Amino acid sequence: MSHIINGKQIAAETQVSITKRVAEFKEKTGITPGLTVVLVGEDQASQVYVRNKEKRTADAGMNSEVIRLDATVTQADLLAVVEKLNQDETVHGILVQLPLPTGIDSDLVLDAIDPTKDVDGFHPINVGNLSIGKEAFVPCTPAGIIRLIKSTGESIEGKEAVIVGRSNIVGKPVAQLLLQENATVTIAHSRTKDLPSVTKRADILVVATGLAKFIKKEHIKQGAIVIDVGMDRDENNKLCGDVDFDDCQEVAGFITPVPGGVGPMTITMLLENTLISAERSAQ
Ligand code: NDP
Repeated sequence: MSHIINGKQIAAETQVSITKRVAEFKEKTGITPGLTVVLVGEDQASQVYVRNKEKRTADAGMNSEVIRLDATVTQADLLAVVEKLNQDETVHGILVQLPLPTGIDSDLVLDAIDPTKDVDGFHPINVGNLSIGKEAFVPCTPAGIIRLIKSTGESIEGKEAVIVGRSNIVGKPVAQLLLQENATVTIAHSRTKDLPSVTKRADILVVATGLAKFIKKEHIKQGAIVIDVGMDRDENNKLCGDVDFDDCQEVAGFITPVPGGVGPMTITMLLENTLISAERSAQ
């Protein structure tokens, strides 16, 4: 039986330490770190995410602001809102919640965010800096994944790491981060031939496909660390991951559950990035 990596608990502990660091920073500099989230339209899932971000930011002692815009907002007006936030010294982190309504070019909006306030880490400057090993904002879900892997106490250096999925928001940045930790990294995707033979090499397996319960025990090396990024629905409409947890638990050394694994870490890393941004701006 594998050890279950308790993301909920690790996120809660990390939030406590961030809250302490925020208080110390405020005491030392008189500056309160601030995160502003821009939410456009009425997407139900986005409303829930944004409410959680708003609350967790305030709980950490930071300024927490949400700008809610109508789905009919024009691209020019949205860009003007972003520009205003870029100029606002009390705002250290800007996050434009995706997806944006059709008719708005998301890339254009994300590219307009000042890279020094891009706490989501999606701006091309941060993506480029991460890939060449320079100081960058690391996207929150990948940053959380590395924390969860480290929480096992196993070293990453020299290990075979396989990531299934090559999206810009998960797969590719996770690969960059594991490379920085000196793992030997393979990225698999939908055109990969004989996936089980690739994933079975992995001491560390990160799965981000969006396919419910796609990874079975046949994919997993005995004792591997298995990180499940997926947020899917099973045949009973119950939340599940990309990894068939019950099946793989017998084989994996460590495994994240869904829910309660990667998900809770994402907002925590957003708070940490906002604090880092405030610290940098104070220097
Ligand atoms: P994308 O849809 O952008 O990417 C999916 C990736 O999986 C693609 O690279 C695709 O390959 C690959 N893939 C699809 N089918 C196969 C297959 N049969 N074999 C191997 N690879 C395959 O997804 P995201 O990265 O955005 O998200 C992945 C999952 O993670 C989703 O469930 C999402 O909800 C979840 N997620 C969770 C977050 C959290 O905070 N917990 C945050 C972000 C995402 P190809 O490139 O060839 O098409």
